Amino acid sequence: MADSGPTLSNLSTESRSFPPSEEFAAQANATEEWYARGDDDREGFWAEQADRLHWHQKWDQVLDWQPPFAKWFVNGKLNVAYNCVDRHVDEGHGEQVAFHWEGEPGDSRTITYADLKSEVSKAANALTELGVQAGDRVAIQLPMIPEAVISMLACARLGAMHSVVFGGFSPGALKARIEDAECKLLITSDGQFRRGKPAPMKENTDEAVKDTPSIEHVLVVKRTETEVPWTEGRDVWWHDLVDKQSDEHEVQAFDAEHPLFILYTSGTTGKPKGILHTSGGYLTQAAYTHHVVFDHKPGESVYWCTADIGWITGHSYIVYGPLANRATSVLYEGTPNTPHEGRHWEIVQKHGVSIYYTAPTLIRTFMKWGKEIPEKYDLSSLKVLGSVGEPINPEAWMWYRENIGHDRCPIVDTWWQTETGAIMIAPLPGVTATKPGSAMRTIPGISAEVVSEEAEPVGVGGGGYLVLDKPWPSMLRGIWGDEERYKDTYWSRFADQGYYFAGDGAKYDDDGAIWLLGRVDDVMNVSGHRISTTEVESALVSHPTVAEAAVVGAADETTGQGIVAFVILRGNAAKDGGEDAIKALRDHVSKEIGPIAKPKKILVVEELPKTRSGKIMRRLLRDVAENRDVGDVSTLADSTVMDLISTGLKDGK
Ligand code: ATP
Ligand code: MG
Repeated sequence: MADSGPTLSNLSTESRSFPPSEEFAAQANATEEWYARGDDDREGFWAEQADRLHWHQKWDQVLDWQPPFAKWFVNGKLNVAYNCVDRHVDEGHGEQVAFHWEGEPGDSRTITYADLKSEVSKAANALTELGVQAGDRVAIQLPMIPEAVISMLACARLGAMHSVVFGGFSPGALKARIEDAECKLLITSDGQFRRGKPAPMKENTDEAVKDTPSIEHVLVVKRTETEVPWTEGRDVWWHDLVDKQSDEHEVQAFDAEHPLFILYTSGTTGKPKGILHTSGGYLTQAAYTHHVVFDHKPGESVYWCTADIGWITGHSYIVYGPLANRATSVLYEGTPNTPHEGRHWEIVQKHGVSIYYTAPTLIRTFMKWGKEIPEKYDLSSLKVLGSVGEPINPEAWMWYRENIGHDRCPIVDTWWQTETGAIMIAPLPGVTATKPGSAMRTIPGISAEVVSEEAEPVGVGGGGYLVLDKPWPSMLRGIWGDEERYKDTYWSRFADQGYYFAGDGAKYDDDGAIWLLGRVDDVMNVSGHRISTTEVESALVSHPTVAEAAVVGAADETTGQGIVAFVILRGNAAKDGGEDAIKALRDHVSKEIGPIAKPKKILVVEELPKTRSGKIMRRLLRDVAENRDVGDVSTLADSTVMDLISTGLKDGK
C-alpha cells in the first residue's frame, strides 16, 4: 500500500512458515478451539482462567468496564503470594524446586517451594516490623539474587506495592522513582557482581535516598561483602532482621483490584511512566499466558527467563506467572559472557532447561559470537524458545531456530508491554504455525486490530497502528499519580472508538499474520511512503556482513525524510567498512525490499545506543542524523556510546 498517509507501506515479504509437529501438538496445553472460545464468550473464558488461582472469596462479576477504567473479578479476594507459594506447599509440592539459582561468580542455591514459603514469611514479618503496611510503597534495587524475588513476594503478601528499579540504574534514576511513588522502604544490597567483579550498590542507593524524606529505612542484603557506608537508625542488615523472624506468617486476602506493584517503563521513547498493576486480573493473565504460550508443565518443565526482575518480563515471567503455575525455574545473576560466552548454554545443559525465554538483542549478540559456542553444549532438553522486547529480525529468528532449537523447538515471539502486564500477541506452540519475525496472532481471550489514522481496519496485507479494542485482565490500571497522562497517552488517540493505543506500528501479511513494525514514533516518511524502521533493519541484518543495524529517518529537503542506517559489522567484515562494502549494503536493501527503502546514508559504528533493557534508542540516532544535540540519555545503558558515535561521524567515518 504505497500512499501518503495513514497506512504503513508493506515492503518485505517472508514466505518461510513452520507448522507445529504432530508430536508437539499431541501434548500441547492449548488447542485451536481455545481461540473460538475466547472470542465467543470472552468473559466466560477469562473466568475459567481465573479458576487457575485460589480465591479466598469468589468474584461476583467478571468485568466492570467504564472506559478507560476496568475492574476485573469484582469483589473477588485473593492473596497473590499465597497463590505463588503457600498453595503449592499445601498441595504437597513443598519439596519441588522453585529456583535453581546461579550466582555470577559460580556459587549456587537450590530453593524449594517450602524454602520459599519460609523465606517469604520471614521477610513479611520483617517488613511489618519496619512499619510496612498494605498500600505502602517499597522500592527494591537488587541484583538477580533470591532475596529480590523474596522481597517482591513479601510485599505482595502484605498488600504493599513494590517498585522494582533495575540494578544498573543511577542514583538519580532511583531517586526519581522513589520520589514519584513516595516509597517508605528501600531494599538494596551492599554490592553486585558485574562481569566477574563486585561493583558498589549501597553507595549509589545512599546517594539516591540522601534527601528523599519518604524513606524511613534501608534494608540491606549482604551479597559481595563490600564495606559500606552506614546510617544508624535508618539502615538495617537483612541477615540481622529477617533471619531472626518467625517463619509463620498469617496470610490475608485482598481485593482483586488491590494494587500489586508500580513499574516504570523502559524509557525507550521518553520519560518513564509509573505503570500501576493490580492483583486478580494481573495474576490470572500472567499464569494463563505462561501456561499456554510456553506450554509449561508443572513438575516437569525446567523454565528459564533471562530478563532482569527490574523489567516487566521479570515480574510476569520470572516471578508471578511461573510461581503461580508451580514452575521450576533457573534464576541467573550475571551477564551472558561471564566467565565465558557459553555461560547460558552451560546452564541450560546443567539444569536440563526445557523452556528458554530471551530478547532479540541477546540473540543478535549470540550470532555475533558465533554458532561454534552453543555447539559445544548439549541443548537437547530444550522444547520451546521465546523472544520478547523488540521485533525479532527474521535472520535472528532463523539463527535461533537452527542453532539453539536445532530445528525442533517452536519459537514464540511474544508481543506485549509494561502496560499490558502479560503476553498479548504470540503463537501457541503446538497449535499455531510460526513465521520468522512474526508474532502471528492474538492469544485466545485477547483482541487487537491494525487500523489507519482514521481508525479503519487496514485488513489483510495492510499496515497501520496496533490497537487493543477490548479490555484484558492484566491491563494497567493507570499511571501512578497521573490520571491525565494515562488518558492522554493511551486512550486519546482513538477516543471515539475506545481503543487502547499501543504506540507500535504493525501490519497483516497476506495470511492475516501480525508483524510488529516498531514504534510509531520511529516510522519514516520517504517520498510519501511510510516505511518501518524494522523492515529496513531486518534487510540489513540479513546481509552476511552485518551484525546489527538501526535505521532512522532524517529530515531531507526533497524526500521529506531520508533513510539513515547505523550498522555494526561482523568480525572480519568490520575491517573492510569501505565504500564498496557500503554500496553492497545499499544494493542489498534495494534488492530485498525495493529501491524506495535504499538508505541514503549508511554509517559504520562500533556500538548502538541501547536502553538498559537492551532496546535500540532510535530517537538519539535521529538527533545525530539531524545534527542536533542528543536528548535525554538517562535511560541509556552506556552513556559513552553517543559520544563515540558523534565523534566517529565528525571524523568522517
Ligand atoms: P517506553 O514506553 O518508556 O518508551 P518501552 O516501550 O521500551 O519504554 P516496555 O514496556 O518495556 O517499555 O516495552 C514495550 C515495547 O517493546 C512494545 O511497545 C514494543 O515496542 C516492544 N516490543 C516488546 N515485545 C515485542 C515483540 N515481540 N515484537 C516487537 N516489539 C516488541
Ligand atoms: Mg512503551
